[in-house]
Amino acid sequence: MPSRTTAANPAGTPLASIVRAIVALPTTSFREQHVLAAIRAFAEARGLAYTEDAFGNGYVTYRKGRAVRGARPLVLGAHTDHPGFVVEGVRGKRLTLAFRGGVDARYGKGERVRLYGADGRPRGVARITRILASDSPNRWARRITSAVATVEEGIASVGDLALWDVAECRIRGRIVEARQCDDLIGAVAVLATLDRLVARGVEGHVIGSFTRAEEAGLLGAAAAAGARTLPEGALVVAVECSSMAGGRAEQGAGPIIRVGDYGHIFSPDMTLWMFRLAMEMQQADPKFKFQRKLMDGGTTEATAYDFMGYETGAACVALGNYHNMGEDGRVAAETVNLDDIDGLAELFVRMAQDTKRHGAVRAASAKRWGEIGREAGARLKAGG
Ligand SMILES: [Zn+2]
Repeated sequence: MPSRTTAANPAGTPLASIVRAIVALPTTSFREQHVLAAIRAFAEARGLAYTEDAFGNGYVTYRKGRAVRGARPLVLGAHTDHPGFVVEGVRGKRLTLAFRGGVDARYGKGERVRLYGADGRPRGVARITRILASDSPNRWARRITSAVATVEEGIASVGDLALWDVAECRIRGRIVEARQCDDLIGAVAVLATLDRLVARGVEGHVIGSFTRAEEAGLLGAAAAAGARTLPEGALVVAVECSSMAGGRAEQGAGPIIRVGDYGHIFSPDMTLWMFRLAMEMQQADPKFKFQRKLMDGGTTEATAYDFMGYETGAACVALGNYHNMGEDGRVAAETVNLDDIDGLAELFVRMAQDTKRHGAVRAASAKRWGEIGREAGARLKAGG
């Protein structure tokens, strides 16, 4: 029997059980309270501090060891909302629904939604009879703004959530099918990282950041960065599920070091550091896989953090059925691969242990290129 160290269970909590505890919780922009309550409970069960800022974003802090003094904290940020409807009007069985988030308006008509009350419990089911779209001359660019639905089972009240009637959370083999992978799986990856840091007694300083209203325009991240809520000097990583459509990435091929998004690229030094650590992990264990990709299917919170002066990188897992847009115009559960989430958490644990190398990795590359530059000149002059 292996000897026990300080950690009671070095493997930590099984990943699938963290997925099950978080990913099915009903949420949408401005209505993230059930997810944040679960994150608070998760933190408190592990003796970690949970705090909220003035905007309701949640933070879980892990800090252990003397070595972290003066070191740059690692901020791992995921968002806690997902596109969904909120009931705005009830007349008998007829509901008017407002949509929060970005989904193509060719989706939705005839689909069923599940209704959730203020306590997060299911209350009934309704069917969408009409979709109202944003105004755009291009039919393909129109987004759902609101809808009309008819209650088929149960009851509804103003303020209820109305979320697509697809699998809340189903794990088949290594594939997670869930209504709200984006970005509750990102939150799961951050929680799994914190769990493993605790279980293994790692020395490091990591802040899990759980933001609100990303789907409404990166609001939680922008407000937090604008108020300088994150520590100055922090190394910030936006953690996402990002659309793999169009061959952007491969599901099951490992976590993705994300170099940019739809319109921006992030700190090359962060990417270089993450890439170097991932390469070292792969050298030590050839089974460790990772990808390095742009992932330009959407905009991520890293754009807000970067433009607002934080040293910012990004990481994600490849997402299928982005924003529930399945094949043939039908709404579907999103998909991710469990091994990708596991690899992402392992990469984050390694980053937590090696924040001091963030600057050194760049300096080593610069030194090497300085040497190459000097030798190159001599070789060129010598003819080969
Ligand atoms: Zn999204």
